Amino acid sequence: MRFASLGSGSDGNGLVVEAAGTCVLIDCGFGVKDTVWRLGRLGLEPSSISAILVTHEHGDHISGVPAFAARYEIPVWATFGTLAEVSIRFEEMTQVYAFDSHDHFAIGALEIMPFAVPHDAREPVQFVVSDGAVRLGVLTDTGCPTPHIAQSLSGVNALVLECNHDLDMLMNGPYPAQLKRRIAGRLGHLSNDASAELVRAMDCSRLQHVIAAHLSEKNNTPELARAALAGALNCAPDWIGIATQEDGFAWREIS
Ligand SMILES: [Zn+2]
Ligand SMILES: [Zn+2]
Repeated sequence: MRFASLGSGSDGNGLVVEAAGTCVLIDCGFGVKDTVWRLGRLGLEPSSISAILVTHEHGDHISGVPAFAARYEIPVWATFGTLAEVSIRFEEMTQVYAFDSHDHFAIGALEIMPFAVPHDAREPVQFVVSDGAVRLGVLTDTGCPTPHIAQSLSGVNALVLECNHDLDMLMNGPYPAQLKRRIAGRLGHLSNDASAELVRAMDCSRLQHVIAAHLSEKNNTPELARAALAGALNCAPDWIGIATQEDGFAWREIS
């Protein structure tokens, strides 16, 4: 199984996971042309996408989904709550499948295991994806670590983990007070320290890859995110990958 990012951050997100001829796209926050270009950078055609999985209805995750899915006739999977929020925008699409935050389901060769997260959306989830042999955990857009999240991600072989902000940079940075409160709140985004706390609560013994994702361009730096996770994992900071807004990250193989 392998995975890569089309781009990660508040201007748009997209992550691909592929095994045995099945490739799912988790979220699509880029326009159609941009998405096609970003897929091409990874050697993928739109026709190689088996399904789009949606984590929640925020624009940086969903804005590109309706047009891209309709144009290339790709099935879309989202929670009942997410679909309730976006029903009008998804009206013209024929292949839309609803799932509950606790339902496991299969797409081709991949097993999809959603888990509920605290975030200011209707029914937000994140995912563990497995090909039956190895598991990738994906967690962004989460206000705080929970025991359920730690349990869902325990023992994964690879982890894409939000490191949204450094709390000091956020609090001393340019955002208005209300936005600072939203981001730092329990339904906002994970700080570097909160992500490190989550890592400490998980079984990390099988981790082959850790990528810090959804970094704020104003309130974080790759160095601070790397340092926080490396401290929790007891590894070299360079070992932690970074998903950037512009480039995402290149394919990573899980063996
Ligand atoms: Zn987001
Ligand atoms: Zn969000």
